[in-house]
Amino acid sequence: MRAFGTTIFAEMSALAAQTGSINLGQGFPDTDGPAGMLDRAVQAIGSGANQYPPGPGVPELRRAVAEHRADHYRLDYDPAREVLVTVGATEAIAASVLALCEPGDEVIAFEPYYDSYAASIALAQARLVPVTLRPVEGRFTFDPDELRAAVTPRTRAVLVNSPHNPTGTVFTREELEVVAELCRERDLIAITDEVYEHLTFDGVAHVPMATLPGMRERTVMISSAGKTFSVTGWKTGWVCAPAPLVTAVQTVKQFLTFTAGAPWQLAVAHGLRHELEWVSALRSGLQDKRDRLMEGLAAAGFEVLRPAGTYFVQTDIRPLGFTDGLELTRRLPELAGVVAIPTQVFYDRPERGRHYVRFAFCKKDEVIDEAAARLKRLS
Ligand code: PMP
Ligand code: GLN
Repeated sequence: MRAFGTTIFAEMSALAAQTGSINLGQGFPDTDGPAGMLDRAVQAIGSGANQYPPGPGVPELRRAVAEHRADHYRLDYDPAREVLVTVGATEAIAASVLALCEPGDEVIAFEPYYDSYAASIALAQARLVPVTLRPVEGRFTFDPDELRAAVTPRTRAVLVNSPHNPTGTVFTREELEVVAELCRERDLIAITDEVYEHLTFDGVAHVPMATLPGMRERTVMISSAGKTFSVTGWKTGWVCAPAPLVTAVQTVKQFLTFTAGAPWQLAVAHGLRHELEWVSALRSGLQDKRDRLMEGLAAAGFEVLRPAGTYFVQTDIRPLGFTDGLELTRRLPELAGVVAIPTQVFYDRPERGRHYVRFAFCKKDEVIDEAAARLKRLS
């Protein structure tokens, strides 16, 4: 694993702390989640929920996850056999890849991709086969022919992240159907990372892959509480899938962490049942923040690509006279007192993303405004 070094999030958050810069790099909100949910966690700690919960998760959370899937997406999962609680989506992804891939198997993922994908696939001694997302009229998408050409007899799974970090694309039903058709034809598993499922803008709806014809039976659906409820530090996630797939993932999960923190599970169950209005308000607030940051970045001279979901705005730095995002983000504290993420680190072939830089807008308005004002120093 030596080649994986230190994650870009750790590097850039440390740089922000060292230099006192505004951190628009690592995606975490600077405000707390719903008060009722925070209270539920405190109450859980005060009332004895402090020992190992059952390995697959606290029954109350597994039921709440199943109810949420049924209410939102008309997907039925049996909480006892088809829902598994994990230590964030990160563990869910790693355990799924480790459980379902043999050494030498291939996993297709759209690049740029969230950094843990490549590491999880490497841990499984499988091979990541990237299919590049490119902007078409300002929105990152893929070429269906390139995706089809990426499938080989060794392909085992397609890892699909929508809403997509770092591009902000929310895949349309038509785009997902291209992936689904391949999965059905070539007998592939879809591992879906849906952690931003509630964070979509402009009326765009998130479509879970498992809702497409013939896909529930071959989809490992992953999400987590961090982004939905602004509790990224709680690291509470879950997997929903047919029982044999969940059993396989749980077999791995039990030896990675055995279980996940008890108080958070009870609090997240409360969140899924009682705090979805709070989540709607979060979503509309984030849409305003997206617009605010986009305006600020455009005024500072970046070319800005409009995201339909997530916490992130993607920018092209070339109009400012820069060509390398990694070089720029390492100098950005000194140039402007701001930290951002060089998108190239999410590519197998970094040259394809060299000129993009990602900025997070899940921050207070005054923080976004101050960052935007500072970034004007660049032009
Ligand atoms: N997938 C994506 C696309 C992410 O952006 C993140 C970061 N929240 C994760 C997975 C990890 O989620 P968690 O913190 O729940 O492990
Ligand atoms: N998901 C967050 C992001 O993309 C950070 C997660 C992490 O720090 N590993 O910024």
